[in-house]
Amino acid sequence: MASQNSVLSNLAELHMHISSSVTPEILWDLAHEQGMKLPARDYFEFAKLVTIDGQVGYADYLKMYDLLEEIQSTPESMFHLAEQVPTHLYQHDHIDLVEIRMNPMLRSRGGKIDLDHIIVYTLQGLERASLKFPRLRTGLILSMDRRFSKEVNTIIVDKAIKYRDRGVIGIDLAGPIDKKFRLNDLVGLAKRIHAEGLGLTIHTGEATDADEMWEVVQKLKPNRIGHGIASVHDEQLMTFLAEHNIILETCPSSNLQTLAVKDLEEMKSNYHTLLDNGVPFTINTDGPILQNTTLPKEYQLLLDNFILTEAQISEINARAHAASFIR
Ligand SMILES: [Zn+2]
Repeated sequence: MASQNSVLSNLAELHMHISSSVTPEILWDLAHEQGMKLPARDYFEFAKLVTIDGQVGYADYLKMYDLLEEIQSTPESMFHLAEQVPTHLYQHDHIDLVEIRMNPMLRSRGGKIDLDHIIVYTLQGLERASLKFPRLRTGLILSMDRRFSKEVNTIIVDKAIKYRDRGVIGIDLAGPIDKKFRLNDLVGLAKRIHAEGLGLTIHTGEATDADEMWEVVQKLKPNRIGHGIASVHDEQLMTFLAEHNIILETCPSSNLQTLAVKDLEEMKSNYHTLLDNGVPFTINTDGPILQNTTLPKEYQLLLDNFILTEAQISEINARAHAASFIR
């Protein structure tokens, strides 16, 4: 049990997609409440479609998100999930700070569902969770997507700015690798995000290499980076990250499942390289249900395999609290 180890309490989770943080039981109920036709008629078959067992590779992993997002495409569902997910994390995993990320556009059923409804219902769910647990702090990050045009990503940034004072704390870039994607399209948006005082985090150095990470840090100047594990192959990049205090939101189990990291041995070498080079990083789940993990389990994995010490974990968790976009 996580609570037996005092270092694994009052944890902060900075990188969690709500898509992959909902139990099959809840998803099953939500889908049935909407009368949705699911790809599996049997519950246990369905449960297999929404949780990962073993290594699946990056492309198949992202495909699982389509079904998850489809089920979560009503304001009412988001309201319930935004309350239930942090509640569970607080009660079971000793998480007292959670930043949840989601892409409202991928929940709009092709424009039929109003984005403001999705966002406001989500914010209200998060607020209700905080009402139950006064020590629990929550915030919402809106994700842009690599598959979207500049115009569509601009709409997401506009919404983040609109709801900045009501619980939206930052902007992310996620989504599968897309050949049409141009980082230059986001330069102006990144400037606006910084000027508005929102946090900016970018998924890079997971399925992409250190070269893309260089482009991201120089052109978009993010406060944090989603994953960024590819930086271990570039000493100059690691120095840059350390000097500019750009924090990596690393996700150990997720990297193993998507094959971004081959095995525990490579993981150990990666983390030790980051430590040796003074790169600031945090530990996160990416999506605890899909990844079949919890944040305490992630830390325990690193402890058990002599990748991190308890003292390092305390320091990393303190850093995660300090690096939060929640004021
Ligand atoms: Zn992610």
